[in-house]
Amino acid sequence: MLTIECPWCGPRAESEFSCGGEADIARPLDTDKLTDREWGEYLFMRKNPRGVHREQWMHTQGCRRWFMATRDTVTYQIQGYETFKMGNTSADAQEGNKQ
Ligand SMILES: [Zn+2]
Repeated sequence: MLTIECPWCGPRAESEFSCGGEADIARPLDTDKLTDREWGEYLFMRKNPRGVHREQWMHTQGCRRWFMATRDTVTYQIQGYETFKMGNTSADAQEGNKQ
């Protein structure tokens, strides 16, 4: 079983996580101007590389936070993790005070 390291909880079994698919897909800003083809490509078309791939994961049976992992799809080896930078919200400030 794959071991995934949650940035907040540490290493856990893969069964505690849900994969959210490819990372770095930005929602188009002006969706009213998209053609049906462009909208379909945004919704459904994803890369399926053989090799290094950036993915979104959620620690569903733990802290329920999303993060990104860079994983090799051939060896399953995870090469790094990143958290989402959402700015300094009040929740972030409260968490900063706890640490
Ligand atoms: Zn976690």
